Amino acid sequence: MNTNPFASYLTRVDSAAPLLNLSETELARLKSPDHILMQDIEVERDTGETTRLHAYRVQFNNARGPYKGGIRFHPGADLDEVKALAAAMAVKCAVVNIPMGGGKGGVQFDPKQYSPAEIDRVARAFVRAFAEHLGPESDVPAPDVYTNAHIMDTMLDEYEKIVGQSSPAMITGKTLDRGGIVGRDTATAQGGAFVLQELIPPRNTPEQPRVAIQGFGNAGATMARILADNGFKIVAISDSKGGIYSANGIDPIAVLEHKERTGVLNAKGATTITNTELLECECDILIPAALDNQLTEENAAHLKAHTILELANGPTTPEADAIFSSRAIMVIPDVLANAGGVTVSYFEWLQNKEGRTWDTSEVQTRLAEIMRTSAQAVRAMADEKKVTLREAAFLLGLRRIVDALRAPRL
Ligand code: NAD
Repeated sequence: MNTNPFASYLTRVDSAAPLLNLSETELARLKSPDHILMQDIEVERDTGETTRLHAYRVQFNNARGPYKGGIRFHPGADLDEVKALAAAMAVKCAVVNIPMGGGKGGVQFDPKQYSPAEIDRVARAFVRAFAEHLGPESDVPAPDVYTNAHIMDTMLDEYEKIVGQSSPAMITGKTLDRGGIVGRDTATAQGGAFVLQELIPPRNTPEQPRVAIQGFGNAGATMARILADNGFKIVAISDSKGGIYSANGIDPIAVLEHKERTGVLNAKGATTITNTELLECECDILIPAALDNQLTEENAAHLKAHTILELANGPTTPEADAIFSSRAIMVIPDVLANAGGVTVSYFEWLQNKEGRTWDTSEVQTRLAEIMRTSAQAVRAMADEKKVTLREAAFLLGLRRIVDALRAPRL
């Protein structure tokens, strides 16, 4: 089984390459990062002891604009994972046609074992380690798993101390007070909802499609709320502690309130299920919104959903993809499905550079336009080349990156 996320990316580039007519240099450029930055950072614990953590920033490709991508605080954030996520960011920005390249960062530790003050020290140490490589025109980070707007504010603060000037466009996903954009917190899910509405097959889909969502954080919980508001029935949700299922539907707002009060998922009339059961439950649409490598050759044959919308990055292995394709299950790939986050991050970067504030309606209108146009472009490519949506998205994104590499530089 191929669960190395970077190997999965390379497999996908290899299958797109013959249709792209690439030179050896171009293929090599698509297969390896421009820069791998690695440093062990030292962080003082509240006890006064110092601990060392592996920190990474991978700058994959800047052919179309500054490196762009989140920073993840997670025990699984190793170099292979960060490289794969950085590569996916380059493809994703190209799929939605925004002028940004691909990057990603990570600190390999379990933030649940750290106090808020310790996490702030991790954030500051990360910026000190890589500050000379970051900046509004060079590399613009953002939040990812277990990082948030407060952590972005802290990173900006540390960066501004180092460079000695205000520089809000060096990072996105900030709070509104520090130059963040309205709607960034809901953008990934909202973008996914626009794409889903564009691509969902009208046939075989009941009036109230049943949805199962793995992961109940920023992306998953927001998606549950948006889809429930738009006539979908949420039948299952889960987080790292397990899941719940109800054929009659689950009210995501009540679940969120319960989770905020007690720390666990629960809903009236719902039964407890494992994460494995969630992936294989009776539903029309399955939305992985947690971690990578969740859909594999072990469970791909057992899924009941006819549509998979990848809000998480890299949730499906290439082996599972092949099984879904043979079962005519539509996979809306991460590089399209969750690109709403980076699209609104791009709006935030623009807003900071232009020194003006966008309002909700401008953000929503431009997000809807970009996500719908991108979904149509990916579907058109899939129809033309008779390939899956993932292969089509890779063809589209890689083609645009290669075009930028070939364009003469002034
Ligand atoms: P988050 O930290 O807010 O939430 C992660 C959720 O996943 C939590 O509910 C956690 O309990 C759950 N989880 C962790 N391990 C799990 C497991 N083994 N089984 C089931 N659930 C588990 O993170 P997020 O921002 O919602 O990101 C989730 C995914 O979406 C990631 O793959 C991330 O890269 C991707 N993504 C997020 C954004 C964004 O804007 N937030 C943008 C693009 C992609």
